[in-house]
Amino acid sequence: MFLVFEGVDGAGKSTQIERFCDSLAAAGHELMRCREPGSTALGERLRELLLNHGETPIGMRAEMLIYMAARAQLVEEVIAPALAAGKTVVSDRFLLSSVVYQGHAGGLPIDEIRAVGAVATSGVRPDLTFLLDLHPDDAVRRAGDTPDRIESRGGPFFRKVRDGFLSEAAADPDRVAVIDAAQSVEDVQQSIMNAFQRHLGTPGHPHGSTT
Ligand code: ADP
Ligand code: MG
Repeated sequence: MFLVFEGVDGAGKSTQIERFCDSLAAAGHELMRCREPGSTALGERLRELLLNHGETPIGMRAEMLIYMAARAQLVEEVIAPALAAGKTVVSDRFLLSSVVYQGHAGGLPIDEIRAVGAVATSGVRPDLTFLLDLHPDDAVRRAGDTPDRIESRGGPFFRKVRDGFLSEAAADPDRVAVIDAAQSVEDVQQSIMNAFQRHLGTPGHPHGSTT
């Protein structure tokens, strides 16, 4: 089973992934945890290039393709083998981030991103994505004062990111669960477990069977 957490920096992805993985492990899941971009040697090098404030100019198309290259390596090296071994994969971000950051907010055509995404992922896609939805101002407040290259793009960009995430979720409600991330850590955690059980069966059933 392949599960993804999405949402802007500061939404609470790292906090919730930690707790979610603890409950899944306790329920008997064998877990593989990863983050985007990263979790492979190539991916971590590309992450530095993408997120540090270097002097290298990176256009929106190149940015999209670098994320996709990191993703291709992650799928081939980590995600596909883990899924084949029956593990539950939990990823901090996946293709939806590209659709939203470089598409909805960045202005690249969404269908082009999906086409490149199909190549990068070789069709591997999440069974369920938890979208941690939070007002951009709250996210900035939480994330603190050292934004990375992407997160320093400012208010209008992040309103488009939020709206993009929400419209993608609305278009695919069976696979994207919107979680109100403005709640307390405990309440967000409970909302995630509720959505997980509603969509895929209980955490006691690693293969999501509801029968
Ligand atoms: P992300 O991984 O999405 O960037 P984090 O989990 O790192 O988000 O959380 C960003 C900051 O907000 C951290 O300092 C974290 O402790 C805090 N935080 C996370 N969830 C909540 C919450 N529900 N309410 C208040 N603060 C939170
Ligand atoms: Mg994080």
